[in-house]
Amino acid sequence: NRASAAEPNYVISTDATYAPFDFQDKNNQYIGIDQDILKEVAKRNHFTYTLKPMAFNSAAQMVANGQADGIIAGMAITDERKQVYDVSDPYYNTGVAWITKKGSKLTSLSDLKGKTVALKSGTAAANYGLSLQSKYGFKVKYFNDTDTMYNDVVNGNSAATFEDMPVIQYAIKNGLKLQVQNANDLGNAGAYGFFVKKGQNPQLIKAFNSTLKEMKADGSYQKIVNKYLKSDQ
Ligand code: GLN
Repeated sequence: NRASAAEPNYVISTDATYAPFDFQDKNNQYIGIDQDILKEVAKRNHFTYTLKPMAFNSAAQMVANGQADGIIAGMAITDERKQVYDVSDPYYNTGVAWITKKGSKLTSLSDLKGKTVALKSGTAAANYGLSLQSKYGFKVKYFNDTDTMYNDVVNGNSAATFEDMPVIQYAIKNGLKLQVQNANDLGNAGAYGFFVKKGQNPQLIKAFNSTLKEMKADGSYQKIVNKYLKSDQ
């Protein structure tokens, strides 16, 4: 039909594995808080999109290089990123946790001296970890995806990792044998936003912000969050 043929199609990149924000269901369909919000933004603003799931670092680069129109990937709004991207209003608050294997004897950052810490390339949590490196004297090892990074800690190859609180909480809830060490003292990581390349696709930012506002007012935002996190409460 003519109306849908005229709808613009955008390329949106995302993190291939960042539950509960971006991940695949049993039928390999992308789901999660980000994906459900994005779907609604597209629907209410009459556009379609081609989703490109990949390593977070590459997904962010794709937008910076102009190979994708936008990214939604549990991506935190930082001053550094504001130089490169235009960003939506914040849609989810986060904080950075430091994490060990469940039952680990390491309980203070000072215990990490000389040990290896697993970090995910290009993330705000990695920057946070790096900001503590010289003070606490740990070594770092980089990963492209969160699941492989977690496994390195579960296996005891890395002593600890840094990741966003809602993401690690979801993983632990789903059985990963890891433990958050600073639940009451999380690193500041701001909030997640939707990003486009600076100066490009301002209509996407406008669409995201207006739909987010509507979704908060009509309850559909909370419904999506509850769908993925309700059993946590
Ligand atoms: N929240 C982190 C960041 O903004 C990591 C995002 C991700 O790994 N998908 O950098």
